[in-house]
Amino acid sequence: MDIPTHEDHADIREAVRDLCSAYDGAYWRKVDEERGYPEAFAQALTRGGWMAALIPQDYGGSGLGLVEASIVMEEINRSGGNSGAVHGQMYNMSTLLRAGSSAQKQAYLPRIASGELRLQSMAVTEPGTGSDTTKLKTTAVKRGDRYVINGQKVWTSRLQHSDLMILLARTTPLDQVKKRTEGLSVFIIDVAQALRAGMAVTPIRNMVNHETNQVFFDDLEIPAENLIGTEGQGFKTILAGLNAERVLIAAECIGDGYWFIDRARAYAGERVVFDRPIGMNQGVQFPIARSYVNVRAADLMRYTAAALHDAGQPNGAEANMAKHLAAEASWEAANACLQTYGGFGFAAEYDVERKFRETRLYQVAPISTNLVLSYIAEHVLGMPRSY
Ligand SMILES: Cc1cc2nc3c(=O)[nH]c(=O)nc-3n(C[C@H](O)[C@H](O)[C@H](O)COP(=O)(O)OP(=O)(O)OC[C@H]3O[C@@H](n4cnc5c(N)ncnc54)[C@H](O)[C@@H]3O)c2cc1C
Repeated sequence: MDIPTHEDHADIREAVRDLCSAYDGAYWRKVDEERGYPEAFAQALTRGGWMAALIPQDYGGSGLGLVEASIVMEEINRSGGNSGAVHGQMYNMSTLLRAGSSAQKQAYLPRIASGELRLQSMAVTEPGTGSDTTKLKTTAVKRGDRYVINGQKVWTSRLQHSDLMILLARTTPLDQVKKRTEGLSVFIIDVAQALRAGMAVTPIRNMVNHETNQVFFDDLEIPAENLIGTEGQGFKTILAGLNAERVLIAAECIGDGYWFIDRARAYAGERVVFDRPIGMNQGVQFPIARSYVNVRAADLMRYTAAALHDAGQPNGAEANMAKHLAAEASWEAANACLQTYGGFGFAAEYDVERKFRETRLYQVAPISTNLVLSYIAEHVLGMPRSY
């Protein structure tokens, strides 16, 4: 297996940079201030074919792999933008591509590739169970050719800007399965239809400009053919998507990291205090240099994790490690950048405070730092399960 490096895929980087150059700091600042959605940017990304990056060419997509998709996400964040508004489509696609039937792929993929439909949303987390996913309480009960869904989700992102949503629900009660990871199933939900038939959505105002919601299901009936993969095996089905998500998030953090480092380096060269550029002081240089070292190291793990995914090999350990290293490195770079800017780092017009808030999220979502470390301790190092 060839593992790419940050010097590969220059053509993709160039094209995405070119697209992003039309959406500068002022654009993202305005979206952030208005708590809006970067619709013009999402449309440009769709027109450019990037939102269909992972869809095979037979279905009208670009037929790229996760390596390339991760570069798209990295470049968006590196340009000063926020992929969080659009990244859902990439990892949700991974679930549909890997586990969807050919009828489902035929029904959805060409329409997603053309931009007619968006698959941006995934509802896993619940308010009562949090990281303890297998205890989730939303149920899907089969009645004839329908499933009836009841329960509640929280932090379901981009739902108001999505036509389709991936849902994880319990189809067999926890006390009736041998392993707690069994009895969960994945469904694809038609959002507009569901809103008329028993699904309600309440937005959550939050620290970043991230469109995210509480979702309530009250006897929502969906066709049985909306089940993705095998009933009861949904945890495994969704995990492939979650590992892809971790790789993409790692790439976004790496993009953020490079953005912070570029900004800090430039500002340190311009800002004169005590009659010399502040960048002449090692106390200013070292935190920037250290975060560069860590971003580059995280980048290596991200490429390994993405290449394993594209080769169809297990990548749980690498995806988790990449996400962990990259989220830590981008947060370190964010702090180094803010410190380099001093008081000006707090002024919205420099974008540093916005990007600082945005990159902080990735210590918590889509999986918190502690849970990554628990996974590594248990599944890689063979230590006792701690929870
Ligand atoms: C802006 C935003 C967008 C999101 N988007 C989505 C989305 O689109 N879809 C979706 O399904 N979810 C989404 N999430 C949810 C996200 O995945 C969860 O917030 C995350 O997995 C953590 O779960 P929790 O918030 O319930 O924290 P909890 O599970 O309540 O954990 C709280 C804290 O306790 C720690 N902790 C818990 N158990 C242990 C343990 N055994 N050992 C050590 N530490 C522990 C955790 O690490 C964490 O720091 C989003 C969250 C946010 C904030």
